[in-house]
Amino acid sequence: MKTKRGKVYLVGGGPGDAGLLTLRGAECLRLADVVLYDGLVNPLLLRHSKATTQRTCRTTGPAGRTLNQTEINSRLIEEAQQGKIVVRLKGGDPFIFGRGSEEAAALAKAGIPFEVIPGITAATAAGAYTGISLTHRNFSSAVAFITGHEDPAKKESSLDYKQLAQFPGTLVFYMGLHRLGKIINSLLQHGLKKTTPASVVSRASTSAQQTISAPLHLLAEKVRHANLHAPSLIIIGDCVLQREEISWFESRPLLGKRIGITRPVGQAEEAIQRCIALGAEPVLLPMIEILPPDNWTEVDLAIEQLAKKHHDKGKKYDWLIFTSANGVEGLMQRLWDNKKDSRLLAAVNIAVIGPATAAALEKYHLRADLMPKQYQAEGLVAALKNHVAGKQLLWAGANRGREVLQQELTAAGANIDKIVVYRNEDILISADDISKKNLDWIGLSSPSIARRFASIYEEEQEQNSKLRLAAISPVTAESLSKTGWQVDAIATSHTWEGLLEAVVKAESER
Ligand code: SAH
Repeated sequence: MKTKRGKVYLVGGGPGDAGLLTLRGAECLRLADVVLYDGLVNPLLLRHSKATTQRTCRTTGPAGRTLNQTEINSRLIEEAQQGKIVVRLKGGDPFIFGRGSEEAAALAKAGIPFEVIPGITAATAAGAYTGISLTHRNFSSAVAFITGHEDPAKKESSLDYKQLAQFPGTLVFYMGLHRLGKIINSLLQHGLKKTTPASVVSRASTSAQQTISAPLHLLAEKVRHANLHAPSLIIIGDCVLQREEISWFESRPLLGKRIGITRPVGQAEEAIQRCIALGAEPVLLPMIEILPPDNWTEVDLAIEQLAKKHHDKGKKYDWLIFTSANGVEGLMQRLWDNKKDSRLLAAVNIAVIGPATAAALEKYHLRADLMPKQYQAEGLVAALKNHVAGKQLLWAGANRGREVLQQELTAAGANIDKIVVYRNEDILISADDISKKNLDWIGLSSPSIARRFASIYEEEQEQNSKLRLAAISPVTAESLSKTGWQVDAIATSHTWEGLLEAVVKAESER
């Protein structure tokens, strides 16, 4: 067996917004066998990777020990020596107050090849996301990045506050929140004007971003009242004044809202992107997973039927029905694996339940012949029932779900075969797991997900008071009607975009 040579990538994961990772960073994550990530990294970045992942800072649960720097360095070296591709993923930029250079030095000493991939550091992200240009030419010709928390082993501070008070530009303190009062006093004592504009930016570029601004001598008091959380930056200088005009991020409609996304992880991308665009924090909370069927016998038989030429004997399907993107993927992939391709579908009409299913079909350059106005089984029945008397229908669907389609189309005189092209199975998760995520909303994007959600709480006999529910359609909402859960937002267009629009509306009406 060929052994690949181990290598370590020290990757900057950016400041928090899961979109602020470099293309090179994402590529390294795709290549990785192991990812060690630190506490500042947004866990959503891990969706770019299939590697084994471990958080190196304190986490909850039994595996929640913090690894110290020596342990991290040894882990990086050991994993690489075993021939693995290792990504060390760090918040912001690995070389800005990130100890990345210490890790690089340890790797160099051990003779391990490595690369450093820069990231967007907290200061520049905080500037951009609050509307503060750290080097606006009217206000500042320089910017200093300063640590508010020096190496505790150092005897004396290497920071000369006299010099800092005279610095001809913007001061940005990292790691200074807990020493805010002391830092400000030292600067004031050394002559910095007490009216100098200043801000503290907490959790910059994330949905939880908060900015407090005040003249320097009043800042500490104001921040104390606001109860800001780490990680935070302190920005001091006249450039802070611009913020009022060009702050853009904090006016997003769902800022500060944490929204649980219940879709399987591989299919959550649209929902994640929409949440971020609206200022919300997407929290992955898959309740079901999509797996291949237990066996393919019936599917393969149906594929053979579809392959039959006109003059052959046997069933000829008139319609092929898809009620989910997974159904499309499941059948098309199996066709391909059976050494066939989409020409097999040349003679059959195709019906889809809605736009997401149609989009999945388009990837194979196939157009649906029919899509109902109402993207639900009832809508599909209404659209199909006048065309299908005496016809042969094939429905490629899941192992479970509603029976409406089969019952109603049979009643309309059709002969309908259902084949299971994928399985939809529950992921084990408890009410406690959900409450730990501290969600404001949970998006329920199918009746099966909604029922699963309700059953989790049924078992545990408790309800989470803060959590509000958003459903992708009235059918999904109705599946909760006997559970005691109230649905606060129901999408009018039955997509994640529609679901999040309904959440925005519900929030604005509060
Ligand atoms: N390598 C990181 C910095 C690590 S030091 C980078 O380049 O950004 C940790 C400090 O970074 C925190 O104490 C805080 O001051 C700052 N920080 C990191 N992420 C931040 C964020 N999203 N908002 C505000 N400050 C942040």
